[in-house]
Amino acid sequence: MGNLRFKAVEEAFRKKAVSVSAPANNLDEYYGKYVFNKKAMSRYLQPDIVQAIGDAVQHGKTLDANVADIVASAMKRWAKELGATHYTHWFQPLTEGTAQKHESFIEYDGEPGDKVIESFSGKLLVQQESDASSFPNGGTRSTFEARGYTAWDPSSPAFVMGDTLCIPTIFISYTGDTLDMKAPLLKSLSAVNKAATEVCRMFDANVDHVVSYLGWEQEYFLVDEGLYATRPDLMITGRTLLGHLSAKNQQLEDHYFGAIPSRVTEFMKDLEFEAYKYAIPLKTRHNEVAPNQFELAPIYGETNLSVDQNLIVMSLMKRVARRHGFRVLFHEKPFAGVNGSGKHCNWSLGTNTGVGLFTPGKTAAQNLQFVTFLVNALTAVYKHNALLKASIASATNAHRLGANEAPPAIISVFLGKQMSEVLETIAGATSEQAIVLDEKKKMSLGIAHIPEVLLDNTDRNRTSPFAFTGNRFEFRAVGSSASCSSALIALNSVMAEQLMQFKADVDTLLAKGKTLQQAIFDVLKEYIAVSRPVHFEGNGYSDEWQQEACKRGLDCETSVPEIFKAYTSEQSVKMFEHLGVFSKAELHARNEVKWETYTKKLQIEERMLADLTVNHIIPIALRYQNMLLDSVTKYQIAFPNRDKSSSLEAQLTDQIANHTTSLFALVKEMNEAAAAAAACAEGYEMAKAYHDSVLPYFAKIRSHADALELIVDDEMWTLPKYRELLFIH
Ligand code: ADP
Ligand code: MG
Repeated sequence: MGNLRFKAVEEAFRKKAVSVSAPANNLDEYYGKYVFNKKAMSRYLQPDIVQAIGDAVQHGKTLDANVADIVASAMKRWAKELGATHYTHWFQPLTEGTAQKHESFIEYDGEPGDKVIESFSGKLLVQQESDASSFPNGGTRSTFEARGYTAWDPSSPAFVMGDTLCIPTIFISYTGDTLDMKAPLLKSLSAVNKAATEVCRMFDANVDHVVSYLGWEQEYFLVDEGLYATRPDLMITGRTLLGHLSAKNQQLEDHYFGAIPSRVTEFMKDLEFEAYKYAIPLKTRHNEVAPNQFELAPIYGETNLSVDQNLIVMSLMKRVARRHGFRVLFHEKPFAGVNGSGKHCNWSLGTNTGVGLFTPGKTAAQNLQFVTFLVNALTAVYKHNALLKASIASATNAHRLGANEAPPAIISVFLGKQMSEVLETIAGATSEQAIVLDEKKKMSLGIAHIPEVLLDNTDRNRTSPFAFTGNRFEFRAVGSSASCSSALIALNSVMAEQLMQFKADVDTLLAKGKTLQQAIFDVLKEYIAVSRPVHFEGNGYSDEWQQEACKRGLDCETSVPEIFKAYTSEQSVKMFEHLGVFSKAELHARNEVKWETYTKKLQIEERMLADLTVNHIIPIALRYQNMLLDSVTKYQIAFPNRDKSSSLEAQLTDQIANHTTSLFALVKEMNEAAAAAAACAEGYEMAKAYHDSVLPYFAKIRSHADALELIVDDEMWTLPKYRELLFIH
């Protein structure tokens, strides 16, 4: 009974920090040790082979079979020295997370018999068949064509995890449909490269390549393992479905600034040590707003690589946390009433000449380029705000965005005071006023001065889902459990499409005889006016903003199954097909997977909640009620002349009866609603039914269960309480 909970609490309280001895002085020795990076390649391969791999990465050239064989054999030797006995194609199916199927290196040496050798050929490195039918595919493949294949992505280095050589791959069906997150990401990166390079060439003929950069910030909670084990809801759904707020939660805001508890510091040190072995440059670590909530972030990098690094870190975090007696929670809202967790995606574009396209420059020409990219990003987000929201929407992130607590499920852009002023000046000027050429044909911009360094920490609006932060945009609406891919596919795609539109609009004005600078200026001026509705500098968490945003025509939908539809709108399909990122069929198939995942998550929560209510909460409450009734009877015997109905015991008994009766009735109704929902057509209909008619019961049931938690004797309560889950280290 209650004992289990107390035992877990006591053990958690007594746990000492497990210190790790990460060697501090020889970073060189272990940094990137488990990654087949350039350094490792040059130890195992001839320079011309390393060059061929570099070309494949840079220019998308295919490696010929001989080279692939040589690379595979070198990779195997390298991996074996690190203890690997198996290899796997490591890919990112539509379930978020990663998937792998381990194969050992052994092969028969000639005829089947007693003798085996270890081998790894180029063919196995480059492509592998995989049974696609066991991964979500939204019906893209007909059942008789259940095969798909994974294909090596040389732009993300192979790595050794445990005893396995992991080879990052894309996952596609034999009909050519993509079945994963990486393939469309690579396509979107190529689209934005192409479109941005063309626009950059208006300013600088030397640009031949534009790279998308990503720096993620991973928020997470840590919970003591023993306590976690006694909360079935945390174990099964990743969040607490019940639990009354602790008297103290985050109101003192002391956690954010406080020292990191020693058990957690040791976990973080250990994690950094592990991450460095995978060449993941973790840079910052700190407490977050909620108790037991933390954040870590690496130095940003090329988007494809950075996405993979985030996935690797998430799996390292789970593993390392257990070494320290913790469980790590990636759920966006594991605890009601305290802050949720996000994964802020810092995004920028940069040229091969080393210019950050969201970074203010030194000269007027550089600044015109900077403003061009900034305004195009603003416009892209405006036009596709519904799609960007769909890219971060999920059953779990819905508890963080658009639920009872801020922030709302509305995408707006914050630019800061200085950039807002610059845009207003452009909007109010004519190109003749603004663009002045002196005798040497040097341009000066009549727009407000743009300081070279805009990275001003005081000018941060933490309530904005999409904020300009001086040299990049920070997409804050992304959920902590999500892969960054989905958001980055959408972001790079909308930017690519927008930049192509920009180029076309400028070309039209050039054909009418405008100068290049005037044409650029005039187009930007128009875009600033068009995108005004998405530009918002105020408090994104306020009620007024929600009303205002809807008036401005921004997408204000809060139902997740509905939000997903933005992927298959005419506008989105046209854009994705135009860019070659997704076909219409793929978009529809992916939405089927999204609806199915949504439904399953709610189904699991519904069952868990019913189980907890009927098998934990109600029995405990009734046991306590029984004790009270006992006491009422004894009271009557002891004081036969007194009015027994006014006794405290009698009052409590009534309260318990009210709550347990309501609980039982609500669970029954919820079960019926779930059965009706499950009878709907699969896909959108079913997801919608779960959202509309099952989900609302969660809060109702919770309110009665949480009320009982406040009434029932603490000693009888079996589930660890918020104050225990959130404050013990
Ligand atoms: P803050 O808490 O102020 O948002 P952090 O230091 O926690 O900042 O995280 C910022 C993230 O943004 C880091 O991963 C950092 O490397 C990344 N970053 C910095 N500059 C850029 C850039 N130009 N493009 C993409 N990411 C960037
Ligand atoms: Mg941060």
